[in-house]
Amino acid sequence: MGMRPTHLAYMFSALTLIGSATRDHIIPHIPPPPDTVEGIPAPPCDAALVIGDTFLQPTVYENGPGITYIQVHGDETTGVPAAKRLINQYGGRLIQFPGNDRWLDFFHNEQEYRVDPNNIFSDRGRDATLRAWSFRYRASPPGEQQVVRAAVARFATTFLEQCAFSEASAIIALHNNPNEGQTTFHRYQRTARAAYRRGDVDNFTLVTTAGLFEYLRRKEVSVIHEDTEHARHGSLSWWAATHGIPYVNTEFQTGHLKEHARALESATEFFKE
Ligand SMILES: [Zn+2]
Repeated sequence: MGMRPTHLAYMFSALTLIGSATRDHIIPHIPPPPDTVEGIPAPPCDAALVIGDTFLQPTVYENGPGITYIQVHGDETTGVPAAKRLINQYGGRLIQFPGNDRWLDFFHNEQEYRVDPNNIFSDRGRDATLRAWSFRYRASPPGEQQVVRAAVARFATTFLEQCAFSEASAIIALHNNPNEGQTTFHRYQRTARAAYRRGDVDNFTLVTTAGLFEYLRRKEVSVIHEDTEHARHGSLSWWAATHGIPYVNTEFQTGHLKEHARALESATEFFKE
């Protein structure tokens, strides 16, 4: 993380080149600031982001290089103390979206829209989540819908770039669900390549590689080997799969910290071995 080259950095080098070539004739010598030799610093991961006309600021808890833990749904915080403990021990970072529920509400041209922030990482996902949760989007003509989707796309892209997700060694997502709600082991088992269950149907992990599946099964953590074709289009796990980044989704019942912590520990150990 920290400094990384961006297209702005290349523009900066091009400008300094022009500067050195012409400086003797017209431009007075201005030494570059010391930290811009390689490139300008990228904005930090917790810099405020814009979605439509609304600001959103992620919170980042960081301790050097390591795994990226992420909580995209504002109210799904059960595993947070466990993730922070693992970060203190092994390094890494936890990125949290703010909010008191799972939605991301924003204004665009004085209209209010809502998306599920874990569905905005592809155009198909953005269309589906806007259609599902925003009356205003459904009622708009295609041209206007496209403008709103573009605003959400800008937000998603900026977030991924700002937090340098394409350089992440592994991502572990923290999710919670209600007791015997819609998100259960059985729902995912139907389209899974392989599944192993031990205990509560509300507590499980989702992985996309056989190696991780076997490892978690040996640790007796409930695990679903998801077929990436069935991964929800536009989810962060879908994005990670299309970018070849290892991803573990942890889905645990709200308040089941002990179980959630054990799964987070096991997934972290896999990447440490
Ligand atoms: Zn969630």
